[in-house]
Parts: sequence; C-alpha cells; structure tokens
Amino acid sequence: MSKSKISILVAENSTPEIKNIKSALQSHDDINISVHTARSGSDTLEKATDRKFDLLLMKQNMPGKNGIVVLQEIIKKKLGVPVIMIVAEGEEKLGVKAMENGAYDYLTRDEVRTAALNRAVHRAMQRKKLENDISKSLLKLEKLAIRDGLTGLYNHRHFLDVLGQEYKKSSRHVQPLSCIMIDLDYFKSVNDNHGHQFGDLVLAESARILMKLVRDTDFVSRYGGEEFFIVLPNTVLQGALILAERIRNAFAKNKFKNGKTSEVVTVSIGLSSINDDNVAGADDLIANADKALYRAKAEGRNRVIAYDDKIEEGSILKEDHNRMASFNSKLETFQREIREHCIESAHNILCEIEKGLGALNEHSVRVSHYAENLSKELAMSDDDVGAVKRAALLHDIGMIGINSRILNKKSKLTGDEYNLIKRHSNMGVKLMEKTRLFERELPMILYHHERFDGNGYPHRLRGDGIPAGARVLAIADSYDAMRTNSSYSKSRSASKAIAELKKCAGTQFDPNMVDAFIKVIKKNPDL
Ligand code: GH3
Ligand code: MG
Ligand code: MG
Repeated sequence: MSKSKISILVAENSTPEIKNIKSALQSHDDINISVHTARSGSDTLEKATDRKFDLLLMKQNMPGKNGIVVLQEIIKKKLGVPVIMIVAEGEEKLGVKAMENGAYDYLTRDEVRTAALNRAVHRAMQRKKLENDISKSLLKLEKLAIRDGLTGLYNHRHFLDVLGQEYKKSSRHVQPLSCIMIDLDYFKSVNDNHGHQFGDLVLAESARILMKLVRDTDFVSRYGGEEFFIVLPNTVLQGALILAERIRNAFAKNKFKNGKTSEVVTVSIGLSSINDDNVAGADDLIANADKALYRAKAEGRNRVIAYDDKIEEGSILKEDHNRMASFNSKLETFQREIREHCIESAHNILCEIEKGLGALNEHSVRVSHYAENLSKELAMSDDDVGAVKRAALLHDIGMIGINSRILNKKSKLTGDEYNLIKRHSNMGVKLMEKTRLFERELPMILYHHERFDGNGYPHRLRGDGIPAGARVLAIADSYDAMRTNSSYSKSRSASKAIAELKKCAGTQFDPNMVDAFIKVIKKNPDL
C-alpha cells in the first residue's frame, strides 16, 4: 500500500520544540509527512495563505499575533486548513477556546511528545478527508440537480441545456421553436411591502400557475430571481402568443394570498422565435425574448410583446420618448384651447349678467395687456406670462356676484358696501374653482388685492409671500384704474399715475416690479 502524502505547517518559535514535533511526526509510518515551519503569528498566516497545507500545528502563544487571532483570520479567509492548537500544561481552557473558534483539536505540550500527537493528526486528516468528500459529493449533486429548490421548476443551468438541445433539434428538422420570457412586475415592492417570505410564496405560486397553463412538452424554468422562461418546441410564434396572453391574463386575475396579505402581481412577457431574422443560435433566442420583454416593461408592463427587428434598445427609448412628447404637447394644446374657450365664455357670461359692467370688461382687457408686458419685462417664463394674462382677464370676475347698484354708486361706499366689494377676489376664486382649469391663475386672482406691506386683503400676505403673478396684477390693475375715468375718480396722466405707483412702491406694491413697470411704460408710451 502506498503511503499517503501530507504537508504540515508547524507554527512554533522554539527550535527544540520544533525538533520534538518533527521527530514525533516522522516516527509515523503509514503517512509520508513533509514538515514546514513558521516562527511568528504573522509568518504563519502568510505561509498558510500562500500554500495549501493539510494541517497546521500551532502553538497558542506565538510571538506577534497569538494563535487564536491567527486561527480566527484563517477561518475568516476560508483558507480551509485544519488547525490543531498546542497549549501549555494547565492552559487547557485556551485549547477549548481554540476549538470554539474553529480549531479541529488541541494538544498540551506533553501530549505533543506522545502518541497523542499522531492520533490527533490522524483524526484531523480523517475529518478533513470526510469534509472534502462531502463537499465533492454536494458539488456533484448540485451539478446533477436540474430543479430550482423554491419553485420546483427547471433551474437556469438545465434551462440552458434544454434550450441548446431544442435549438439543435429544430434547426435540424426545420421545425418551429418559440420562447416566452416572463418577468414579474414591480416584484421588489412586493418584497418591500409584504416581506421576502410572501415574495417566495408568490414565486412558488407563479410556478404553479405557469405549469397549469403549458403543455407536457413545454419546458418551464426559473430563469433568474423573478424571471421565468418557457421553451416551446414545435410551436409557431402565433401559438406562443396565445399562451403568453393566457399567462398574462391568469396573473392579472390572480390574487396571491397568505393569511391576511393579498396582492395582485402582473407580468410582462417577451417572445422570440426561431424564425426571427437574426437568430443563429440558442443565445439569440434568449436575447430577442429579453429585448421584447424590455419593450413590454417600457410600454407600461402587464403586456405581451413579440420580438421584431424594429426592436433596438436605442430606438425603444427614443420611440417611447417621442410618443410621450407628442402626447404631452397634444394634451397641452388641448388644455390651452379649453382654457381659452372658458375665458371667452366667462367673459361673455360676465357681460351678459351685468350689462352695466361693460367698462369692467374693457378694464380687464387693458389690465391683461399691462400685466403681460410687465411679466415679460420681469423675464417670467412663457407659461407664467400666459397664466398672468389669463388671471388678469378674470381678476374681477367675482364682481358679478356684487350688486351693480354698489358697483356703479357715485357717492362714497359705506363700510358694509366696501366689505362686500372686498369679497370679490374670494368670490372670483369660488366661481373659477369649479372648472378646475385655472389652478395656476386662481392664486393670482385671489391675492391681487394683497399689499406688499401686508395690509391688503383677503389674507394679509406680505412681500414675496404674495404670488408674483398677483403682485403683477396689483400694479397693472391700479395703473389702469388711475388712467381711466370711473365712478370714483377722473383719469390721471401717465406721469401722475407713475408718480403714484412710485409713492406706493414698498408699501402697496413690490418696488422691483414698480421699477420694471416704469421701464415698460417708458418703452411703450402708448400702452
Ligand atoms: P420590474 O417591473 O421592472 O421588473 O420591477 P421589479 O421590482 O420586479 O424589478 P427588479 O429586478 O428591480 O427586482 C426584482 C426583485 O426580485 C429584487 C429581488 O429582491 C427579488 N427577488 C429575486 N429573487 C428572489 C427570491 O428568490 N425571493 C424573493 N422573495 N425575492 C426575490
Ligand atoms: Mg427582473
Ligand atoms: Mg420584475
């Protein structure tokens, strides 16, 4: 019988001890032992890292790093060398501690000199061999395994084998072959919301749903985490599409349940077929199904998409982007048209109801004109300028709720009458709120009588707390009022009106906006 060969690293800093150990080991006759030495903790670790020893015999109190620390690092680095720790007489506790930290065995110094050393070496070697055998068997078993543990479906490796074989068969016999790739939608949130255990249950149940729907000749596999792949031999794309739609529908209608938790999980599905133009191997079938699946996700999930040669990753994004952009712009145009239509109707209603308020209507048009110019001068965005314009046209719409007798009154208003007038900005908002079309304009209408110093109405807002559009309206509204004859006062000249604005800059009006407005008027004296 040939001797088995083993290499042992002896970690010991005393030369006489090394000699003792060597002679005890050499005396063994059925094993051919080669002995290497290390003289410090770090030297031991370095050598055990550099080369694979069959055994490490290590003195516990090594200089530098002590034996327990070296042992812990060996375990952490998964170096896989069995360790026998050598402790001083009376220090058996340290030996036990070493075993708790992963040593195979320990020996006292005296035992090293006796047959106990060889018995320990034997035991360690046997245990190591057993472990090796077990892990080799496990590896073999794993290689033999074709099923996924959680779902019972074929695993990824087996799926690749099957697809490879089916591809060969199909191309040899010129038979159809289709593939279905399925990915659960938003599965991360299922885990996040209900926990991993529920997620696992969904995966296992999904497998059952799939198995119920396929034929005996189809291969269903768990491709990855929450992805499944079905290989459909002898199936044309049209047939695969029917099955895929059935699968999509089954998921959409199903409720995964565990106790009180219940959740619908939809799926996105990508299809590929051996007849796709670019298919030259099994890998292409996977890549095509994957691209189609990606497209199904991009188009909103819970849908089935078959690969076609127009699917290119770049173009998917571009097409989606273009489609969204065109939809958005159509929507915006539509909203703008509705808004404009509403403004027109509101004006008509305003004029109809209060025939005597024709002047008010003209006032709104002029205020809108001033407000537009001022907002542009303030470099507001086109959107904001549009909103300010619309708000200006509607800013006094609340007046229709106020008796025309009060509005047209020539004498001074009573306190009650004035309070009623003050309600018009609020009433305007109430009227317009119902349409839900003027969300941006409403704050401007509501606050166009606020004052920069906080003494306005209805909410006594102050400074920048007043929406910019409302501050614009306040100036445009007052300027027009000053420039026009009304029941209260005669019109003033442009320069007098500007002087009044300047006087009230910082109290009634935003001073920066007053400056900007003055620039506007200077640039367009006929405004
Ligand atoms: P999408 O609609 O884009 O597919 O979104 P998604 O959340 O499904 O996609 P993503 O790939 O980001 O998330 C997949 C999740 O599946 C993440 C991972 O934690 C989970 N997962 C993978 N394998 C398992 C498993 O075996 N059990 C459980 N519970 N969850 C798993
Ligand atoms: Mg996925
Ligand atoms: Mg997913």
